[in-house]
Amino acid sequence: MANTVQYVYFFSEGNGSMRELLGGKGANLAEMSNLGMPVPPGFTITTEACTQYYNDGKAISSDIQAEIFTYLAKLEQLTGKQFGNPENPLLVSVRSGARASMPGMMDTILNLGLNDTVVEGFARLTGNPRFAYDSYRRFIQMFADVVMEVSKKRFEEILDQKKAEKGITEDTQLDTEDLKDLVARFKALYKAEKNADFPTDPKEQLLESVKAVFRSWDNPRANVYRRMNEIPYDWGTAVNVQSMVFGNMGETSGTGVAFTRNPATGEKALFGEYLINAQGEDVVAGVRTPSPISRLAEEMPAVYAQFSDIATRLEQHYKDMQDMEFTIENGTLFMLQTRNGKRTAAAALKVAVDLVDEGMLTEKQAVLRVEPKQLDALLHPQFDPAALKRTAVLGRGLAASPGAACGKVVFTAEDAKAWHDRGEQVILVRLETSPEDIEGMQVAQGILTVRGGMTSHAAVVARGMGTCCVSGCGEIAVDYGKKQFTLAGRTFHEGEEISIDGSTGNIYGEAVPTVPANVASGDFGRLIAWADQYRSLEVYANADTPKDAAQGRAFGAEGIGLCRTEHMFFEESRIKAMREMIVADSTANRKRALAKIMPYQQGDFEGIYEAMEGRPVVIRFLDPPLHEFLPTKQEDIDEIAADLGVTAAHLQAVIEGLHEFNPMMGHRGCRLAVSYPEIAEMQTTAVIGAAIAVTKKGTYRIEPQIMIPLVGEVKEMKFVKDVVVETADRLIAQAGIEMRYQVGTMIEIPRACLTADEIAREAAFFSFGTNDLTQMTFGFSRDDAGKFLDSYYDAKIYESDPFAHLDQKGVGKLVETAVALGKKTRPDIHLGICGEHGGDPSSVEFFHKAGLDYVSCSPFRVPIARLAAAQAALKYPR
Ligand code: PEP
Ligand code: MG
Repeated sequence: MANTVQYVYFFSEGNGSMRELLGGKGANLAEMSNLGMPVPPGFTITTEACTQYYNDGKAISSDIQAEIFTYLAKLEQLTGKQFGNPENPLLVSVRSGARASMPGMMDTILNLGLNDTVVEGFARLTGNPRFAYDSYRRFIQMFADVVMEVSKKRFEEILDQKKAEKGITEDTQLDTEDLKDLVARFKALYKAEKNADFPTDPKEQLLESVKAVFRSWDNPRANVYRRMNEIPYDWGTAVNVQSMVFGNMGETSGTGVAFTRNPATGEKALFGEYLINAQGEDVVAGVRTPSPISRLAEEMPAVYAQFSDIATRLEQHYKDMQDMEFTIENGTLFMLQTRNGKRTAAAALKVAVDLVDEGMLTEKQAVLRVEPKQLDALLHPQFDPAALKRTAVLGRGLAASPGAACGKVVFTAEDAKAWHDRGEQVILVRLETSPEDIEGMQVAQGILTVRGGMTSHAAVVARGMGTCCVSGCGEIAVDYGKKQFTLAGRTFHEGEEISIDGSTGNIYGEAVPTVPANVASGDFGRLIAWADQYRSLEVYANADTPKDAAQGRAFGAEGIGLCRTEHMFFEESRIKAMREMIVADSTANRKRALAKIMPYQQGDFEGIYEAMEGRPVVIRFLDPPLHEFLPTKQEDIDEIAADLGVTAAHLQAVIEGLHEFNPMMGHRGCRLAVSYPEIAEMQTTAVIGAAIAVTKKGTYRIEPQIMIPLVGEVKEMKFVKDVVVETADRLIAQAGIEMRYQVGTMIEIPRACLTADEIAREAAFFSFGTNDLTQMTFGFSRDDAGKFLDSYYDAKIYESDPFAHLDQKGVGKLVETAVALGKKTRPDIHLGICGEHGGDPSSVEFFHKAGLDYVSCSPFRVPIARLAAAQAALKYPR
């Protein structure tokens, strides 16, 4: 069959809009060529060729090979040089280039096409044998390293040895004979390592390099990067083959990289560095110290002027800060790459806002420019980048809650509190956390757990508090008895210092200094204000305390979408009454215990209503299985039994009676209220009581919203709702005021999605609990999935953690179903989401498209959700 798909494009055939096919680098090289900029000619092998390579069992088909060589012949024609011809050799560079720029993939091979004969011709032709052999030894090293996986260190050792023998320190001091000797030594190393001679056929060199680029798409580093950045595996990478220009031809040649603005601060000024008489890898490798780009203005004024003019044109063309690579060959400038430059969060904001002020972007375009996830860095402390560079990573867990933390290791929540009270900074290390640990978690700088995924207790609570958390580091062996843990062969005792990075999941075995959060600059304020104008989704916060509510407000939350009431029971003053309630053997005793808790809850709700100044507050009724509130240690059991006036054996029996094989699917959520309606009655009393008290003060009119968790059947919903309505109506009547209130439900069980039309008869609003909905849809535990998801990524079954990024295909379909069915019954039903996905940009985009009214997320993610919601609305107006 004829080959109908075009797999190779000349730079002149492409353009900047073709990045899906040509990759970012290829599309931009094409665009620069079209703009008439000095780009050495070349061609791009498409991302589709990469996909085809994998479909063909990791082989480049003969059709694609033929197409590559046709283009190589065209390149020979265009340059007047020939591949492998010593009289006039064509040399090329080979570079990878995916749709999104991706560190971790194969980067660059330069000087490809050299062999023992070609190098001699090249030496004659250039009249510069030193340069020719310098290029050759570089090529052998790069090809061996990146294509054949012979470590570049081995070559560097030989190079160092040679310099030592000669008594010199700089590579530039090596003469032609030295370089010839290096070539011989490099080839000998290659042969020893690979059991084969270094390939002399340039075409073979080229094909092997193209394969290496394709292979690098699937290396572990690239896979991790893709997962972190939600880049689909099936995109593939393109390969760019470009005729060489040489920065190592002597003192009027050089190579460098530069940004049109400062990537750290966003300041508008050419920023970068270059090296004279060098090739690209020298700048990156840091073997010599480059000069600042400003010095080029003195050293080669004409080249500098041309470069700076190109930089300005590129920035104006792409309307964004550019990151460019260039080479100067004998005083002539060539552009090798341009791309939108990576930048810090602060720089991203400044550049976006400045470009609006400079008239280059509209406000809408500026809103689309800043990556929402990046805002995290402005809201949490970070490690001092310089210190971090010097520190080795000891291990890695899940990046569960962003920020950087450094402190002394403690192993229990009580110790965390005690040490904190003594003025120490601590990292709480636990196998996993439970609601009991809340106070310890609150005072810790950071939380590190062995078990647990992205929606485990530790992760959810830490994000809510804005505390750094690394969860699910299975390599850690904790010994609570000895108060120590072991990781990567090192043992850490209580009180020893470690650092954890909740933005990367990295764990460090020492103290790494942190820099405080760069609290919202003026640029942030301006950009987020623009974003707010364009979004359709409202953004609420998940907040359980008046303090969290105030934090949510400070970050712009327009309401509270989830107030989890269970955390309110753990303070010392309350947990006893809660335990009394649980062990009570009659409804009357249970009611007595609940009556003790009620005033505390009402007080908390009043605080939250006040903090939110009349904005919506959705209060969820008790959700976790009751055993979570009971003590586990014998001494605690003895003490509590004594307190409650029952025997330890009786309490032990109650605890055992509450044991469940699968508590997440056990006696929790609305099931508790079905068994013990008095719990719902007490919570209703607290909510309505608080609303009446605050309303009576006269500043705000509160319209309480009560949310019933874990509903899967309309009758279940109605049963609990009847308790709520009966209690609420009575209290409101007694208070003698007018008060509207709503009773709605969480949608977090697949059956609720499928019967949402029925549930909507009773529910005034739905709030999707996508943590449980994900857990129940996949049928795997949100706390345990971390243990096996890695094998699923390795096997390419899942590309990302469904607890972090919504599974749009499965869980998303259930959401869409529930939205459609819910609206059918109740067209004005209020729809939100309060699972952890509410602060995840790609999930927010999905919820926007699904037609929800709001997303609710932890306070620290509110700014991210606001920006993500605006971007979703701009991309998909509704
Ligand atoms: C959920 O399940 O998505 C939810 C918000 O509730 P929780 O995390 O408290 O179970
Ligand atoms: Mg839930």
